[in-house]
Amino acid sequence: MVTKAEGILLKRNNFRETSLLVSFFTKEFGKINGLIKGVRKDPKKIASNLSICSLNDIHFYRSRNSEIDLISQCDLKKDYSFIAKDIRKLALASYVLEFTDTVMQLHDKNIKIFELLVNCLNSIETDDPEKILYLFQIKTLTLSGFKPHLETCISCGKELKQEANFSIYLGGLVCQDCKTKDRNSASVLKGTINSIIFLESSPWKKALNLNLSKPIRQELRGILYNFLNFHLEKNLKSYRFLFQPI
Ligand SMILES: [Zn+2]
Repeated sequence: MVTKAEGILLKRNNFRETSLLVSFFTKEFGKINGLIKGVRKDPKKIASNLSICSLNDIHFYRSRNSEIDLISQCDLKKDYSFIAKDIRKLALASYVLEFTDTVMQLHDKNIKIFELLVNCLNSIETDDPEKILYLFQIKTLTLSGFKPHLETCISCGKELKQEANFSIYLGGLVCQDCKTKDRNSASVLKGTINSIIFLESSPWKKALNLNLSKPIRQELRGILYNFLNFHLEKNLKSYRFLFQPI
């Protein structure tokens, strides 16, 4: 029986002489892997150009014995291939797609992650790629249950005044008395903490309106990168392209 889904293409690889192996993150089934037979010999076989950043309507047959489904039809719903013209935007999109592909298990349905991906791709054309990156990372941490504890000291529960340290190991802020519990904890600006809280709790569009100063961006970059690496234990290839000078 044919199954329909709406999916963002995460990756594509040539398979044998004429076919393609693809991964989509779908709204209905989470991540799926699929085979499109013969499409390299006959590209008109499917209506989508399968550009690396694209939203597609797909028809496929669920496989009972394999993790690879057979895709019979693929119609382009939205093409984001303009992203490839700007190296910063392409680096961001590559990171977001690789991140999703690496972290999400097969067939683990998650509509919020799907919406997050669509929001990212929709915003890349007009908004600041660096801000989209931080917003994506913060929202992903929250959705994965690794939201950093920022409201009070994570160790003693005391209310925090101006000075606080961020502990990746403990998973949040520590007060001046508790900072010795993690020797690697580092002091963090109040503005950075407030920015994370605002980005985490605001809807996508509203969050994108927040102005981030250079010192706050620098802190966000370090904290989010280290925090994600610590919890997800994944080093992504595409991350190193994100901040390369053009
Ligand atoms: Zn404390």
